[in-house]
Amino acid sequence: MQVELISIGDELLIGQTINTNAAWLGKTFSELGLHVQAAHTIADDETEILSTLSRTVKPGTLVVITGGLGPTKDDITKHTLCTFFGTSLELNQEVLKHVSSFFEKRGRPMLESNIRQADFPKTAEVLHNALGTAPGMWFERDGAIVVSLPGVPYEMKGIIESEVIPRLLKRVDTNPVFYKTVLTQGIGESFLAEKMADWENRLRGEGLSLAYLPSPGQVKLRISSKEGRASESRIDDYMRELGQRLPQYVFGQNLDTLASVIAGICIEKKLTLGTVESCTAGGIAAEITAIPGSSAYFLGGLVTYSNELKSKLAGVNPETIRMHGAVSRETVTEMCENGRKVLETDYCIAVSGVAGPDGGSEINPVGSVWIGIAGPNRTFVRKFVFGDDRSRNIRMTIGAALNVLRCEILGIALDSGRP
Ligand code: ATP
Ligand code: MG
Repeated sequence: MQVELISIGDELLIGQTINTNAAWLGKTFSELGLHVQAAHTIADDETEILSTLSRTVKPGTLVVITGGLGPTKDDITKHTLCTFFGTSLELNQEVLKHVSSFFEKRGRPMLESNIRQADFPKTAEVLHNALGTAPGMWFERDGAIVVSLPGVPYEMKGIIESEVIPRLLKRVDTNPVFYKTVLTQGIGESFLAEKMADWENRLRGEGLSLAYLPSPGQVKLRISSKEGRASESRIDDYMRELGQRLPQYVFGQNLDTLASVIAGICIEKKLTLGTVESCTAGGIAAEITAIPGSSAYFLGGLVTYSNELKSKLAGVNPETIRMHGAVSRETVTEMCENGRKVLETDYCIAVSGVAGPDGGSEINPVGSVWIGIAGPNRTFVRKFVFGDDRSRNIRMTIGAALNVLRCEILGIALDSGRP
């Protein structure tokens, strides 16, 4: 069965609201094994809705419409669907009961516009909306299914999960796609593809698919199979091989994050962490402490943005900063080594860099960041050069620092060249 998505709403076209519904629906239906053919984003406009319906409603197609069902505008979608299917509205007692009890429970008066939400197309089936008032509609004609849902994302998701998917599973032969994701940090998509070309060829040769999903500093590799869970152990083998070949980049899988992986390592090894941050100004500490239970291993951190505080709080010799600058191997070495002593932790991360857009120099162009990790056995310090965008540089620094920490604790050598 082919799926076509229609998102209705002027706010989506002018960029006021991001069309998260289409993204979520695309993901949900493809995971069910249905082929999502197209996504259309259109205005709250009858002519536009009608022309999109006539292009998409055909045998063997599931058309999923979201938006334009709220009580504020004239329920444009509902009226237009009646026109399209040659039917009319009538007061639906089941929906009216639900809408009235919804308002009763909240102790709010019901307005005329809310009562009108119980007007329902005669030929449609009600899709119960447990989380809101506007019900979803299910139409069928000549082998096509048309589902219309409210635009509010959590109401839409609720109806899809409780009403739409169970109906679909009963009638279409879905074959859920099974997938697992390998998470990498610190290597670009094309470098990764080059290093793993033979691995990728073998994987594809066995009928598995591979998708590269990049984000700042990270690439997720999604390995999927159309044969469902039966392929799990084969996928696991490929994931294990990648982890063994590139341990400095592969940090986890599926829903892991660098911080959650570090949490596991610190708890297992009974290690404590601290931070001394300049250009990330607490971002690394925030990332670490986003993990519940992080107080077991994260003792605290210093934000030393100015040179004065680098000396005063983190004990960096002012002479070091004067001679080598704040963004230098020498300064960052002192930041993490002294930080480790001041904070009394097993490991201490320190970062100092030029996030931009200003402050770049010939030695340290914008995006240059020194990252240091002081541990019980040694101190590792390395320079990274990211890009021009300030917030991206900060993001990349946080990811790189956490990955360097992971490698230091686990005794994994980082490549000397920057990939
Ligand atoms: P009407 O369009 O009839 O005025 P409404 O806009 O109140 O009704 P919906 O169109 O169902 O009702 O949308 C409700 C809310 O959901 C709005 O805040 C809207 O911005 C948001 N929304 C609508 N479509 C999407 C979408 N595709 N992705 C994310 N949010 C959406
Ligand atoms: Mg709308």
